[in-house]
Amino acid sequence: MSSLLLLLQAHGAYLLDEGFSRRREYEVIVSEISSCRKCPLHRYRKNTVPGEGPLDASVMVVGEAPGRREDEEGRPFVGAAGKLLDALLELAGLSRGAVYITNIVKCRPPGNRDPKEEEIEACIPYLLRQIALIKPKLVIAVGRHAARTLYRLAGLQWTSMTRLHGRLVDAKLAGVSVKIIATYHPAAALYKPPLRRVLEDDFKGPIKRAVELALGLRGERRAGSLLDFLGQS
Ligand code: SF4
Repeated sequence: MSSLLLLLQAHGAYLLDEGFSRRREYEVIVSEISSCRKCPLHRYRKNTVPGEGPLDASVMVVGEAPGRREDEEGRPFVGAAGKLLDALLELAGLSRGAVYITNIVKCRPPGNRDPKEEEIEACIPYLLRQIALIKPKLVIAVGRHAARTLYRLAGLQWTSMTRLHGRLVDAKLAGVSVKIIATYHPAAALYKPPLRRVLEDDFKGPIKRAVELALGLRGERRAGSLLDFLGQS
């Protein structure tokens, strides 16, 4: 067997091992969330909603909080808002299965009210651990609370969704260099139909371009990691 083939096999085993340890670490986070009582929202939940998607996703979608259907199913963005998100992702050239989807708080606020600042503060370490583990290239922040919180964590100045939606910014979250792009929450477009057009324009335009950039960067990084590995061997 050629030495190049042996090196490629070793690199494959290395990636497999990395995948297993990432999965194990992720399961620890999910388990901690499932028994979490760090804020009052634990009293109202049926299920925690940690998030779902590939653990090596280049693109992460971060929403605000689970709603009724999400609470019942323990999954993010199901129901009407979830269907609209799926359609919007398609406009940006993404399938739902290619994206990691989560929220800034993992339990449903009663009556679908906005999450309170203290609830966000209590829950945000879980999101930061998810970002540190998954290392997305692009974070799509949907809704004002998600966008404002991510800007604050990155030390960026938030003004309003009207001004900042569709704008791509560089940031560092949990030690990971990412790009953040904010847009409206799909649920808002269900109540205010004119917003749907704005959302569609964001996903067809700036978000699609940001996704293409993120996927391109991801390809470069993978090629680089193989070359690094071969160089070290
Ligand atoms: S919302 Fe977050 S911090 Fe609050 S109980 Fe649920 S998992 Fe814990």
